[in-house]
Amino acid sequence: MDFHSDEENQARLDSGPLSRRSLGAIDTHTHYFPAPYRAAIDAAGITHPDGYHAGVPSWSLDAQLAHMENLGIETAVLSISTPGVQLANNDPAKVARDANEEGAQLARDHPGRLGFFASIPMDGVDRAIAEIEHAYERLGAWGVCLMTHTNGVYLGDPSLEPVFEALGRYRARVLVHPTEPAAFPAQVMPGWSRSMYEYFFDTTRTFINLIFSGQLVRNPGVRMIIPHAGSALPALAQRIERNVKRGNAEAGQQRYPSMIESLRSCWFDTAGSVLPHQMASLLALADPTRILWGSDFPYTNAQMGAELCADMRTSDILTEAQRRAILRDNALALFADKLPATAG
Ligand SMILES: [Zn+2]
Repeated sequence: MDFHSDEENQARLDSGPLSRRSLGAIDTHTHYFPAPYRAAIDAAGITHPDGYHAGVPSWSLDAQLAHMENLGIETAVLSISTPGVQLANNDPAKVARDANEEGAQLARDHPGRLGFFASIPMDGVDRAIAEIEHAYERLGAWGVCLMTHTNGVYLGDPSLEPVFEALGRYRARVLVHPTEPAAFPAQVMPGWSRSMYEYFFDTTRTFINLIFSGQLVRNPGVRMIIPHAGSALPALAQRIERNVKRGNAEAGQQRYPSMIESLRSCWFDTAGSVLPHQMASLLALADPTRILWGSDFPYTNAQMGAELCADMRTSDILTEAQRRAILRDNALALFADKLPATAG
């Protein structure tokens, strides 16, 4: 699976019925670094988040808009990436508030082009709920972004019940973003970024935990977005389902929700190298109307971004209708209150 040259990718982006000029993509997984957030990362002494080899990427509004122009992205829903707002030498509530105010300003300044997922300080239930309310009542957030865990508290933790109730009240769209697992054997693959595969394990862990907790059944309004084509969940869903059935049989009641039905009720983004192998597995599991596209800019740089976007616009393992749905139509439906449907 060799990469294409820059020239080849530019030609691929311009080819076919879903070229960058023909179909405006909606990017639901892409990151912004407003100045206060960048300052907070610096104050925390973070130079290579989760071992990311290239360090903290640079970001500016101009670079964001150029990226969108280059790939034919009509709308980008911005979020704060790992390590989120839980940063040493900073107050997470203030880091979140500053980032959210900036996101709201960007959305106001670029209507229809930029939206944002609000960051939430998850180090205290009251603080988390206060920011969810502020984000929805005052800032017009398009959704919220939660890390897979905060200080080792994963999303199925019983202490988070009031947070999910608040998210349910707003029918929140919740993008979950991976971060370095709370615990992992550092002697395995030392020197390699945890984004290579630990992210996938942490995403998988937090969704298994969340679904088994019953949180999604009790708060059906919450619309969860699972990143990176479901990470390892499509491969594991059937195996876990057997355990659900056994656990329910032993309990003599429906104590645990169906893993497969729960996953089919979620949305999935396709940020990263999902074609061809991972996508086939996702298509076997997911509701096809709930698969979204994401560029993961700026962690995914311009060169790789062009490669992956061209793959999605031209891949022959997907039909043209599937590619159109993933790149645009499914996100239009999910964000119908934010994006008036327009011709592609
Ligand atoms: Zn990301």
